[in-house]
Amino acid sequence: MSDLMSMPLHKLMEAVEEMGEKKFRAKQLYSWLHEKLIFDYHEMSNLSAAFRQQLSEQYPLPVIKEVKRYVSKLDGTTKYLFELFDGNIIESVLMKYKHGNSVCISSQVGCRMGCAFCASTLDGLLRNLSASEMLMQVYLIQHLSGERVSNVVVMGTGEPFDNYESLMAFLHIITSEQGLHISQRNITVSTCGIVPRIYDFAKEGLSVTLAVSLHAPTDEMRKRLMPIAYQYSIEEILKACHYFVEETGRRVTFEYSLVKGENDSEEHARLLAGLLKGLLCHVNLIPVNPISERDYVQSERESIEKFKNMLEKYQINVTIRREMGRDIAAACGQLRRDFKQGGTQ
Ligand code: SAH
Repeated sequence: MSDLMSMPLHKLMEAVEEMGEKKFRAKQLYSWLHEKLIFDYHEMSNLSAAFRQQLSEQYPLPVIKEVKRYVSKLDGTTKYLFELFDGNIIESVLMKYKHGNSVCISSQVGCRMGCAFCASTLDGLLRNLSASEMLMQVYLIQHLSGERVSNVVVMGTGEPFDNYESLMAFLHIITSEQGLHISQRNITVSTCGIVPRIYDFAKEGLSVTLAVSLHAPTDEMRKRLMPIAYQYSIEEILKACHYFVEETGRRVTFEYSLVKGENDSEEHARLLAGLLKGLLCHVNLIPVNPISERDYVQSERESIEKFKNMLEKYQINVTIRREMGRDIAAACGQLRRDFKQGGTQ
């Protein structure tokens, strides 16, 4: 691995020793990169000039630059488009809440999961992001906005469990005491439901929140929205979620995007409540964000309320996701796509 910023501290120690330096230099280097957020070796003043030179030759740092920023006039929500070293574009979002600042990051360039209503998957998967490219989204946003980031959601473009190793390196570094030290409890990872990875994730010994995109109360309906449903049944997903709760003691969040006339009736809510009975969980209802390439329509406010009330009647914890940055809210992945095609100027 030649990507220094993706290395956890113990790996960095090995790399530094191989370069003929003392182990403690790794701690200094780690602190520059992950705590002080300095991305130029030449500014790392407590390292020798020779070592800095050697680092820049052997381990070039990730080159990521901001190419576009959209700021909501309503609530300050900011969407950033970043360009990676190979010219690929990714999207990240900063949301400001009373309890702190939350950043939504991408885990892949594109996505191969094929969910029907999602813009991020329209061109398929281009490549995985490295741990450092995930970290840099948070670091750059903190740097560019001057705001301290306290929460991270891995809910942007991509399927994090389809890039598991980098995801884990990212989580370990971003939560480490010698780094930004973001609390594990303030991090959420969202998956479309890759069952074996839910079991792996449960065993990691982390206190990170797991969010599962369910979007339908039956396999038949789910298959219409999410191709992954052909691979794993709702029953298998829920079994894995029960296991996650037992292992971690943490409740699972279920995301449910409401599409008019598709999955938003009271009967659907009743079926959903039946599935989730007895599971420590929370349902997040998301009014679907229409994308121009598909004709899905957002559920009426009234149906959303009825759906919510039905779940509550069955004692299921439920919230309707507050729409942040309504005025800049191109659907997930849409801005990146428009930018690439020269649509958004
Ligand atoms: N691949 C992961 C994380 C990325 S998507 C996952 O599937 O969970 C984050 C959430 O936004 C998912 O629940 C996804 O289904 C949902 N989503 C994607 N496009 C959407 C849209 N146009 N409207 C509403 N929700 C959407």
